[in-house]
Amino acid sequence: MAHPTDFTGSCEYDVAVVGLGPTGATLANLLALKGMKVLVLEKDADIFALPRAVHFDAECMRVFQTLGLSEALLPNLFVGPGMKFIDADGRLLIDWQRPTQIGPLGWCASYKFHQPDLERMLRARLAQQPNVTIGLRHEAFSIEPMAAGVAIRFEDTRCAKLGRATARYVVGCDGARSIVRRFMGTELDDLRSHERWVVVDVLLDAPRPDLGDFSIQYCDPRRPATYTRGPGNRRRWELMVMPTDDTARLQSPEWLWANLSRWITPEDATIERSAVYTFHSVVAKGWRAGRLLLAGDAAHQTPPFMGQGMAAGIRDASNLAWKLGAVVRGEAASDLLDTYESERSPHVREFIETAVALGGVIQSRAVGKDASDDDSIRAMRNFVTPEPRLGDGAHLGHAQPQGGRVARQPRLSDGRLLDDAVGYRHAIVLTPQALAERPDLKAWSAQLDVAVIADSAPAVREWLAQLGAAAVLVRPDRYVYGIARDAGTELTDLLCQAFPPQEAVSA
Ligand SMILES: Cc1cc2nc3c(=O)[nH]c(=O)nc-3n(C[C@H](O)[C@H](O)[C@H](O)COP(=O)(O)OP(=O)(O)OC[C@H]3O[C@@H](n4cnc5c(N)ncnc54)[C@H](O)[C@@H]3O)c2cc1C
Repeated sequence: MAHPTDFTGSCEYDVAVVGLGPTGATLANLLALKGMKVLVLEKDADIFALPRAVHFDAECMRVFQTLGLSEALLPNLFVGPGMKFIDADGRLLIDWQRPTQIGPLGWCASYKFHQPDLERMLRARLAQQPNVTIGLRHEAFSIEPMAAGVAIRFEDTRCAKLGRATARYVVGCDGARSIVRRFMGTELDDLRSHERWVVVDVLLDAPRPDLGDFSIQYCDPRRPATYTRGPGNRRRWELMVMPTDDTARLQSPEWLWANLSRWITPEDATIERSAVYTFHSVVAKGWRAGRLLLAGDAAHQTPPFMGQGMAAGIRDASNLAWKLGAVVRGEAASDLLDTYESERSPHVREFIETAVALGGVIQSRAVGKDASDDDSIRAMRNFVTPEPRLGDGAHLGHAQPQGGRVARQPRLSDGRLLDDAVGYRHAIVLTPQALAERPDLKAWSAQLDVAVIADSAPAVREWLAQLGAAAVLVRPDRYVYGIARDAGTELTDLLCQAFPPQEAVSA
């Protein structure tokens, strides 16, 4: 692992990533898989220590699978069965069930984890990438777009030494107060939910099965609260700050134990850490300005009621990395990068708006009101996780209902999961019979580095039948580009749309 200040003069990177939280670490790893030369600048010495994400979904796990981390993560995960919303009298308002068996994406729908564990694994993987340079305690403070790249200035805060590097693209994964966003002049669309909560992580000293495996949202107007089971002996409570609270005392052990006492006492557990947060709900208006881009909390923030903030950042990284790779290598024109915001922004907005709506149920039930009278809650009673389609972009979603939707991950005849057979690239999935009609496909796909997966496993056939497809083209981020209903003309058309003959393009 090289160090940025080891370089003097004109060091040049394909991509500079500002911020090494989960978004930056995932993006840098994926860019490395695409052979990019990457600089990562992170202002802090270590991983963020306060309580944050506890849940990620099957789509995130697929990205970690692509990075070769899923098997190593599994022993430290707990499969979540879902979330129940109950009112002050214990009546069930919303029952959000999550299947605990492996689903169509090849993984379970809900995993509970410890964010520092995940971040450590992402960083360890990154440190193995020879083409990635990581600067911890390197704070970016200036960004100057140039004709063919971007100059980025930073301070090595260990010794106040200033440095400068150039990169073709800079991605701000630098969190809610992003400096890259400021240099871009990007404003935030405020979805108007900004509530203060105390978040406390405890370690159980002895098993407490009575607390349960479901997350519980206590929609109690006297003090809305959340309980979440973590892996092993980790448990999380989130407690809404009320107008009558003495804010100076919110993190004192006395206040925390007093407010946890209905569930747990110091005889049962140890408080590991706590923090007071204001949960914001915002989406950036402009995720790209020329060679500058935003990802993760720099581009959007959500209240944590669906556990989707980090997950959205992981999806950003997955959407952006292959596009940057294609543009930097000259395989695609730079306007491919505009599809990043057009695809991701409406997708993340749907999650944030849903989280805000759920937050409304948790945070504002009037005392004594009968929940069964409330139409908005009745409508959400058997809540299912949204599965939004990507916004318009680099897929055929405008013409085909299957385009822009997350692809299934069937297990193949040889026992491998689809993504393991594909690697981090496009894939055409079809049956051996369909492939037999297209003897030209293998030579053509080898030229473009597209995987051809011809398999007759029942799960593959079932997926193709559900899509109404003879073949499906899946992007490297595991979203469906489009389908062909026959292996002849339609498949040729599909591939020509996805991979039009390129004029020489410059990155
Ligand atoms: C209480 C709580 C619960 C949550 N629960 C969930 C959950 O269950 N599931 C979920 O998916 N999400 C959850 N989230 C959200 C999730 O934690 C965040 O969305 C996620 O950590 C954001 O990752 P990021 O990499 O985009 O930003 P960050 O993790 O904030 O990382 C940004 C990095 O950039 C660095 N940086 C900033 N400025 C500079 C600079 N100028 N130069 C260099 N480096 C810089 C910072 O030091 C930091 O390391 C929760 C959040 C909270 C607060």
